[in-house]
Amino acid sequence: MELNILTLCYLIASVTFIVGLKMLSSPASARKGNLVAAAGMSIAIFATIFLYEENGVKLGNYAWIFVGLIIGTVIGTLAAKKVKMTAMPEMVSLFNGMGGACAALISLVEFNHLAHEMVTTGITAGHTGKILIIVLGLLIGSVSFSGSMIAWGKLNGKVKDFSFAGQNILNLLFLAVALGCAVWLIINPSQTYLLYVIFALSLLYGIMFVMPIGGADMPVVISLLNSFTGVAAAFGGFLYDNKVMLTGGILVGAAGTLLTILMCKAMNRSLKNVLIGSFGGNNVSGGTTGSKEQGNYKEISLSDAAMVMSYANKVIIVPGYGLAVAQAQHACHELEKILNEKGVEVTYAIHPVAGRMPGHMNVLLAEADVPYEKLQEMEQANDEFKSTDVVLILGANDVVNPAAKKDPASPIYGMPILEVEQAKTVIVNKRSMKPGYAGIENDLFFQPKTSMLFGDAKKVLQDLCAEVKAI
Ligand code: NDP
Repeated sequence: MELNILTLCYLIASVTFIVGLKMLSSPASARKGNLVAAAGMSIAIFATIFLYEENGVKLGNYAWIFVGLIIGTVIGTLAAKKVKMTAMPEMVSLFNGMGGACAALISLVEFNHLAHEMVTTGITAGHTGKILIIVLGLLIGSVSFSGSMIAWGKLNGKVKDFSFAGQNILNLLFLAVALGCAVWLIINPSQTYLLYVIFALSLLYGIMFVMPIGGADMPVVISLLNSFTGVAAAFGGFLYDNKVMLTGGILVGAAGTLLTILMCKAMNRSLKNVLIGSFGGNNVSGGTTGSKEQGNYKEISLSDAAMVMSYANKVIIVPGYGLAVAQAQHACHELEKILNEKGVEVTYAIHPVAGRMPGHMNVLLAEADVPYEKLQEMEQANDEFKSTDVVLILGANDVVNPAAKKDPASPIYGMPILEVEQAKTVIVNKRSMKPGYAGIENDLFFQPKTSMLFGDAKKVLQDLCAEVKAI
């Protein structure tokens, strides 16, 4: 009877994961979707703790389980409440790494159980399927854990890009030796030390694979690591014959893979390059970095910027990471409304990797109640720039850098960008001439039709609102 209730709980949880994921695909329902899936996960966890039994024996160990649950819940809640929107990708990377670590630990623990069983029964044959699942979970989970830790360090600036000649070959060698050890372990399950060799090599591979990736390529690798964790969790589901773990893992794995493909498309990168960790790092010293003479840039005053926009027919705002840093989304929406009242058509151009996480700008603008229909995707916006009077760039840099189209030596070469230079006038708001995430200069700032409007985005937008109102 209890087993049936448990199965029903798993079914309900699996359905909530699917419904929750579907709801995440629209900003309007995403928050609710998250809650629906979290409720399903809670049902699955508590049903397992109280209803699961093997040979008539319940889980037990309740003190350990609940101490772990409480510590995890407190840390997770505090971290999620305290995290700034701009630090969200770091947190996602960290939490993703924890998922990978869990999958790897499950494999280590379960292999030791199996090894013990083999020693006590003296039967080493007939475990091929189980060992295969354990080894794959360990390999993928460990890569995801160490890779996510490096990604976390990179996103918060503590870890710098690092690459050397022949790194790809060494990476592939690590992977090949780990896979070789996995095959050997499956053939000779008594060689338990091989499991730890696979563990160490996978951790090393995860580090080496993410280390050279930098600049504009991090979003792709983060979403790929996310899918790895899902797949590793799915192997855990196979191992325990736990349907909800399997469904959850497969959903995360599939969603992460789809996002990786979409991000690759947005960044114009092939998945093969991501997998062998060969992009980004190869060009760390290339491109238009550093002190290249770019010529002069010109500045525009607040009142002139307000005037140009007030008399425009069509203004497109390009939000970027700096808008999130300044938390200027409300001031931005205010300016949009004031310009609308003056008869100016205002829309937003959203680059798929603007900010520091997929959908960052959509979430940011939704927070300020900017209507979704005002947001244009990159392709649509690129068609609109030709007929646009003013493009106002707010804390964006890499996503409007023409080097991506023109400079083959640039680390962002090949990434599709918002082609803002097609508009009549370009106004760029940022605090200085410092580069953005990719660490490269931006020719756009030195073009004749571009004017720089220096200052913190929030302060500048508030002042612009006052100036435009006064016209
Ligand atoms: P960038 O990081 O290229 O540029 C942001 C700019 O904002 C900086 O040049 C900075 O200049 C300016 N800025 C910072 N603070 C403020 C402020 N308070 N007021 C005004 N301006 C400010 O951002 P983009 O959005 O253009 O590009 C995103 C980059 O991040 C891409 O390279 C992308 O690949 C990468 N990335 C994206 C992820 C994603 O999933 N979306 C994940 C990880 C990386 P200054 O200091 O002079 O003010």
